[in-house]
Amino acid sequence: MNISRRGFLLGGGASILLMPGIASYVQEDKGVELPRQRSGGDSLWFELSAQSNTLPTLENDTSADVCIVGGGYTGLAASIYLKKYRPDWRVLVLESHHLGAGASSRNSGAVYAKFTGMDDRGLAERGLQRFMAFLEEESIDCDFQAAKTLYLYSSESSARDARQSLSQGERWLDHQALKHSIASDFYIGAKASPGFYKIQPAGLLSEYRRVALALGVEIYERSPVLAIESGHSNTLTTDKAAVLAKQVLLATNAYTPRLGVAGEKMFPVHQYSCSTAKLNVRQIDQLGLNDWDLRFEPNTLPITFGLSASGHFFLRLVLGYASQDSTEWLDVNYARALVQRIFQERYPHINQLGIEHEWHGVTAHTLNSRSVVSNVLSDTIFLCGAYNGLGIMPSHYSAYLIAQKMTGNESEDWQRLTRLGQHVSFPRDYYRSLMLKSSFNLLNRF
Ligand SMILES: Cc1cc2nc3c(=O)[nH]c(=O)nc-3n(C[C@H](O)[C@H](O)[C@H](O)COP(=O)(O)OP(=O)(O)OC[C@H]3O[C@@H](n4cnc5c(N)ncnc54)[C@H](O)[C@@H]3O)c2cc1C
Repeated sequence: MNISRRGFLLGGGASILLMPGIASYVQEDKGVELPRQRSGGDSLWFELSAQSNTLPTLENDTSADVCIVGGGYTGLAASIYLKKYRPDWRVLVLESHHLGAGASSRNSGAVYAKFTGMDDRGLAERGLQRFMAFLEEESIDCDFQAAKTLYLYSSESSARDARQSLSQGERWLDHQALKHSIASDFYIGAKASPGFYKIQPAGLLSEYRRVALALGVEIYERSPVLAIESGHSNTLTTDKAAVLAKQVLLATNAYTPRLGVAGEKMFPVHQYSCSTAKLNVRQIDQLGLNDWDLRFEPNTLPITFGLSASGHFFLRLVLGYASQDSTEWLDVNYARALVQRIFQERYPHINQLGIEHEWHGVTAHTLNSRSVVSNVLSDTIFLCGAYNGLGIMPSHYSAYLIAQKMTGNESEDWQRLTRLGQHVSFPRDYYRSLMLKSSFNLLNRF
């Protein structure tokens, strides 16, 4: 395979983690990542999107009505709604790297009406409606379109269960029909599910940026928040300056524990994504990629395959847990070996084409799989994140609800979301690292 290694440069101090034994299970708490330290390079989606000018770094002390930490979907969507509700407020976004440096430019772009860990259909439908209305209102250009979607099963028992529990609108494809449709012999059957959409992830991000800047949100890049002190007004300290803010929103998702917040309730899970080179129309047809946009394998560790609007066939794989709050994945050879095996088993013809792009990302998870939308530290500091791997629509709707709350309008749906205090604690110690890391390693063998 032809793989660029650029994306997986190891951060400083990595060598100690490569030592066998305990060092590979327990990584030191490293604190906030500084701009130069993030490993994993940028995603293909980021490289394909129109690159905007870099935004300034916060150099001088200042004050704000709301200071948002983190410039991904959550932080930018919240800043937009805050400015819509209170145009007179000064709203700042501080991003440690560049906008979308986290999961928001690295995801698989699948959108549907679901809040992970919750069965509340009404909440999920209202979330999707709000997201779609926003795209319409702001003329967002992110290749948003309906996505023909399959859930694929490779064991007799999982296929039988899935076939027996088809919902309204779903239909079953048996092995023969599937083989014809996706040019793969690997699966026993699949269900076709309606209601999915897809986007260009980095395209959505840059559109959020456009709308936020037009509304007067002040955005600073390369401005990592290193400490937060709560009080009558809250003080956020970056490496160069301080912000005095009446209210704060932590939109730092999987990086939140590194800030010293919610680490006992949230933990980062590492994802590996890769794609082929851009395929031409003939290749797409010959490789059986024409009929379906998204293909999910709902295993214990789910795998997503998809064809992007740009013509790249991609794979997203859950790697697991590194240790403590680590947002860096050091063992890239492990990821590559897994991908080789997965592609070879399912799509040997695509495997022969080789992998041209690869990137890493982290998602924030909780033990009950629900997100966290909550006050933390004080009444004026909020946290919004931990979408457990499915956050494009949930981050938008949660940001919308939190902006209402911060401007004094609490909606009924705000009450439906889960506060930090309702989440189960999972102490950040050696045993957590040992347990999570080992169980992911074990699951990935199957
Ligand atoms: C590989 C992958 C595939 C995915 N696929 C899908 C999918 O198909 N569908 C779906 O719905 N969801 C998907 N997701 C999840 C989705 O991308 C996330 O839920 C969503 O992007 C979260 O947005 P966010 O703004 O909360 O977090 P992020 O985008 O991670 O943003 C957090 C930001 O905070 C910044 N930051 C961190 N610490 C600090 C600090 N101290 N100071 C300042 N800034 C800081 C980070 O640099 C980052 O930019 C996927 C995620 C990954 C990684």
